[in-house]
Amino acid sequence: MIKTDIIIIGAGPVGLFTIFEAGLMNLRCHVVDAAPQVGGQLTEIYPKKPIYDIPGFPSVLAKDLVDNLMEQAAPFKPGFTLAETAIKFEKKDSLFEVTTAEGTVHQAPVIIIAGGLGSFEPRKPLHISNLSNYENKGILYAIKEPDVYLEKQIVISGGGDSALDWAIYFAQNQKRKISVVHRSSLFRAHKDSVSKLYELEKEGKIDIYTDSEVVDLKGEDKLETVVIKRKDGKEIEVDVDFWFPLFGLVPSLKFLSDWGLDIEKNSIKVDNTLDYQTNVSGVFAVGDINTYEGKLKLILCGFHEATLAVQSAYKIVYPDKKKSMRYTTVQGIQGF
Ligand SMILES: Cc1cc2nc3c(=O)[nH]c(=O)nc-3n(C[C@H](O)[C@H](O)[C@H](O)COP(=O)(O)OP(=O)(O)OC[C@H]3O[C@@H](n4cnc5c(N)ncnc54)[C@H](O)[C@@H]3O)c2cc1C
Repeated sequence: MIKTDIIIIGAGPVGLFTIFEAGLMNLRCHVVDAAPQVGGQLTEIYPKKPIYDIPGFPSVLAKDLVDNLMEQAAPFKPGFTLAETAIKFEKKDSLFEVTTAEGTVHQAPVIIIAGGLGSFEPRKPLHISNLSNYENKGILYAIKEPDVYLEKQIVISGGGDSALDWAIYFAQNQKRKISVVHRSSLFRAHKDSVSKLYELEKEGKIDIYTDSEVVDLKGEDKLETVVIKRKDGKEIEVDVDFWFPLFGLVPSLKFLSDWGLDIEKNSIKVDNTLDYQTNVSGVFAVGDINTYEGKLKLILCGFHEATLAVQSAYKIVYPDKKKSMRYTTVQGIQGF
């Protein structure tokens, strides 16, 4: 059980800035995100694009903004549960419990939902009919603790940055040869990564199967073999301990419908006259996930919403204390 003052669901830019604003109020945060990394849409969809409407930054790369937000939040020592989707919350006495699909339970008097477009979930190779038989029995869509897989037989599918970054990591760090399977002959990943991949192939550390895809899976109780089909129709069987299909993430809002929140147009209705609280007292929604009249889905609007939400969160966490707003230029940043 992870206990904190505020559970933030969503580690996009708005969730990350919430940590900072909460920290200024002496409130501790723990952030849950379905994606294996922080940054939400900025990391997942447009890390290399410049953003021009963040106050004080004439231009900032999305990835750099995420790095800066993490640096700004660091003094307040936030906790993170990454690669886990929050699927339910319930109130027990005066505390909420948020549980993830993986079973991690978080407890706090306040929840701030900064879920954006929804939880980023792995894009699955659904053309494989027996896929579900091997999920978590040799198939993993995110790599949380890479050292666990060193010395294992690994196949990675995908042509983007994530697939190639991990392929290079494993090829450089373990003795066994790994395999990379990609549907096209061209990789979408950064060109330096593509060059490195082919260098490692020349060194005999990687087998690369381009114009190919995994079409079938075999194994008794767990995955033992992947069947790779090439464009010319030829099939190759490769023995595996783990297959990582890394095809990127897609947003899903399916969790919202079960949470007892007022929903309008796939977004959570909030009180924008005060503090962006939902119809459930103690549960706030900020950033792209909320809706109210005149809502603008912009990062800076989410930052404002988060700032007001934590003022009310303070009153819930410390009902008997008064806290007045002070400028950071006056009180500085007193981290935990
Ligand atoms: C191509 C593009 C360009 C853009 N350009 C700009 C721009 O120039 N300026 C601007 O202001 N805005 C821009 N935007 C919009 C901006 O990206 C969003 O407003 C911003 O990302 C919203 O931040 P957020 O933190 O609310 O949500 P998100 O960034 O969507 O992050 C939400 C996070 O919540 C997680 N999550 C959701 N549900 C759950 C759950 N149940 N359990 C666990 N985790 C969950 C998701 O995995 C995700 O990581 C752009 C958007 C796109 C797509």
